[in-house]
Amino acid sequence: MTDEQNLKHKELDGRKIAAELHITTQAEVEVLTQAGWAPRLVAVLIGDVAAVEIYVRNQRRTAERLGIAFEERHFPADITEPELLAAVQAMNADPRVTGIIVQRPVPPQINVKRLQGTIHPLKDVEGLHPASIGNIVYNELDLGPCTAMASVHMLKTTGLALSGLEVVVVGHSEIVGKPIAFLLMAEGATVTVCHHMTRNLAVHCRQADAVFVAVGRPGLVTGNMIKPGAAVIDIGINRVENPDGTARTVGDCEFESCREIAGWITPVPGGVGPVTVAMLMHNTVTGAKRQKEFYGNAFTAVSWTTSPESLEGSSQT
Ligand code: NAP
Repeated sequence: MTDEQNLKHKELDGRKIAAELHITTQAEVEVLTQAGWAPRLVAVLIGDVAAVEIYVRNQRRTAERLGIAFEERHFPADITEPELLAAVQAMNADPRVTGIIVQRPVPPQINVKRLQGTIHPLKDVEGLHPASIGNIVYNELDLGPCTAMASVHMLKTTGLALSGLEVVVVGHSEIVGKPIAFLLMAEGATVTVCHHMTRNLAVHCRQADAVFVAVGRPGLVTGNMIKPGAAVIDIGINRVENPDGTARTVGDCEFESCREIAGWITPVPGGVGPVTVAMLMHNTVTGAKRQKEFYGNAFTAVSWTTSPESLEGSSQT
């Protein structure tokens, strides 16, 4: 193997990993559709959509390829919070909508946590409702936050045993860093969480068998901070300018120097991003299955209470 092939070999191909996840998701979509529970994902877009255009296009393309209906609902940038929450509640009540995804960032008058908390937990396919976040603390991982689930899934594809693994998570946001730490703890890993107040980031990183980085700062982690052979999962997405004035997307890790030292590394783009979309589709199926179980049972219960036998019974009392 040449040096270049050897380096390439270390890269965890997000598109390939996503394609493998899609196989199961597509089969489950077919089963649900035949049972009359066709999944339908609604994307909530507020204000200027240019910033999220690429993400939404990607989500639509993937959803439709898997047989999931995808709908965009656009709201004006100056919508008030009560108006938006009322629109979300209408989606909660609409049985045709099985999943709701909020495109971030949202305008300043909207409290994103309140918005996320208004989505019915059974339709919370991003896994960001406080109930879904709380469930991962209880090791109930079937509707977890997509990016965190995708990142941990990528580590699993290395074949490393997570039990007892020394892992460092850099960044402790509610939607990425903290959920990653909980998912890893559920797998038995020994987890250290670093943030902007961490005194010596390099010392922590160098001891880790796997490093997750979710900060939003290009070049924060460099090769000399990585233990030889460790796995590097780079979640950051940053736009940086090339010398010729064009722009490119990079992660939070200095890719070349980290790739030299690491045993595995996720590229940006083409790493965690596609797997996050795959997890969103997986969650969409999970949400639809849960609704089928929940409302299916509810319908059974209603028809049972109004069956001729039960009416007969009630007339006798
Ligand atoms: P965020 O809410 O801004 O959180 C950033 C985290 O980084 C905070 O916990 C912050 O800690 C920490 N931090 C800041 N400076 C640091 C430093 N010098 N050393 C260590 N930690 C530091 O961002 P996020 O939503 O978690 O997203 C993080 C990155 O992931 C962004 O680049 C985002 O675009 C990307 N992302 C990617 C995907 C994907 O699908 N691939 C999905 C979501 C996000 P303090 O709070 O202590 O300051």
